[in-house]
Amino acid sequence: MSDLRVDALRRYADRFGHDLGAVRARLLAGDKTPAGQIATDNGLPAAAGSGPATFYADFTAPHGRRHIRVCGAAACTAASGGTQVADVEAALHVSVDKCRDDGEVSLQEVRCLGYCYAGPAALDGDKPCAGQDIAAQLTGTRQPQDPPITVQADCPEPVVTAGLLSTESSWAVWPEVISRSEPTDVLAEVAAARLRGRGGAGFPAARKWTAARTYPQPRVVVANGDEGDPGSYVDRLLMERDPDRVLEGLALASFAVEAEQAIVFIRGEYPRARERVEAAIRKAYDDGHFGPNVHGSGRTLDVRVESGAGSYVSGEETALLNAIEGLRGVVRPRPPYPVEHGLDGRPTVVNNVETLATVPWIVRHGGAAYARFGTADENGTVVACLSERFARPGAYEVEIGTPVRHLVEDLGGGLRDRAILRSVQVGGPLGGFLSPGDLDLPLSEAALSSRGAALGHAGIVAFDDRLTGADVLRHIWRFAATESCGECSPCRVGTSRGLRLAELDATTDVVRARTDVLRTLAAGSLCAFGRRVPAAIRSVAEVYGLEGWT
Ligand code: SF4
Repeated sequence: MSDLRVDALRRYADRFGHDLGAVRARLLAGDKTPAGQIATDNGLPAAAGSGPATFYADFTAPHGRRHIRVCGAAACTAASGGTQVADVEAALHVSVDKCRDDGEVSLQEVRCLGYCYAGPAALDGDKPCAGQDIAAQLTGTRQPQDPPITVQADCPEPVVTAGLLSTESSWAVWPEVISRSEPTDVLAEVAAARLRGRGGAGFPAARKWTAARTYPQPRVVVANGDEGDPGSYVDRLLMERDPDRVLEGLALASFAVEAEQAIVFIRGEYPRARERVEAAIRKAYDDGHFGPNVHGSGRTLDVRVESGAGSYVSGEETALLNAIEGLRGVVRPRPPYPVEHGLDGRPTVVNNVETLATVPWIVRHGGAAYARFGTADENGTVVACLSERFARPGAYEVEIGTPVRHLVEDLGGGLRDRAILRSVQVGGPLGGFLSPGDLDLPLSEAALSSRGAALGHAGIVAFDDRLTGADVLRHIWRFAATESCGECSPCRVGTSRGLRLAELDATTDVVRARTDVLRTLAAGSLCAFGRRVPAAIRSVAEVYGLEGWT
């Protein structure tokens, strides 16, 4: 047991040899036994069950025989003009977070389902329904619609989308690499590519891998498929339609850091992605890509899937590790960083799915070839996801530095139905908003952050004039207050306070209180979630001319 462990339940489980994962498995399986009882059955304090059971949205929501998850996130809200949740409640005669008295139907509001291009969206059990007539689809008067994602590359050649748009098959480099190369060869190519994490933080992948290699084995690599940013659906696209590319990238990353265990963490809102990745893993074992003595190399690589249970913050790498360990998905203070002390105390690399899906192309074509894409300061490509309000919504792979206007007007075709563009949200709920006059900005972290926005996971959500600035502002505060993990009080208290203050007129006292909240969030929050809220709020206020948020 390491002194660096901070969670008391983790320490208890380690000291007495009990399995937190067994509790998590029963909760995920929908075991109706009281959660505290599940924990004590496994020799653990009741809190080891009641903690997670009261933290994750999928566990707290009541479940009827038919359970429906309706998306309340930005793209679906923009698509419906903000009425989608109320429409579904009225059609099904059940309120959010309630189960009908007959136990037949329950309704849960989630953020998001990865149908941002075709919303509003819902999952009926695991069956998707998407479109403006979502309520009719759910009542059975219309057929459920499950539109596919349009994919296009507007860059010199597809990289992340190579398997979808070209003949570049997966598993082309792995057998050769593991048989004939050294881990440092893969590391060198990824370093030469200057590949940065595409999940939002933008940390150089090779630096993370190099750091992990300085700590003793056994090491772990986790593919982060907890694509929580509403507006982005590239990870769902890749896991559902090209899971082999994700797994080959995961294998190459594991080889580079000399890890024998790898995990794909997939959000609970992506049931089909889980199904497809699990099938791809089984086939990869059959084909000798995983398992003992991979392709006769003498090396072992074991890969498994873990599921999320409804928590935005669980996409943050330390919260994700807590989730896998069976704890509440709260953020861990850093340092120690996961590369030193990650899953079960082992050195752990967490890379986003899109990042890993880029690695096979880099190894095949060379890091220098990838480094030529993009700008001198921020190179490479990124898959920008355009939301339903666009005339041509879809996933567009572009070079970093592509003007946002090119995405919005040329690729996206402007807004559908000649609607008037009021703003675009770039980089997820805590990214930022741009006005129509800001669209000449390049899609890069440096340019977007200069306007209070962020590249994030490169989701671009268009808002027309059916939603007011006050509606959008409340939406952001509500998202922040609902999804705050609660681990630190500046964010736990500040986001709820901000939501209340958003309902009040901007008197002198209210404006002062708002300023206090924003400053406290920025200065005192433990992780980027809380620290990003003020920038997101200020950018909404600036774009919509809302007073009293400074
Ligand atoms: S800033 Fe918010 S999300 Fe991050 S640790 Fe604190 S409470 Fe959790």
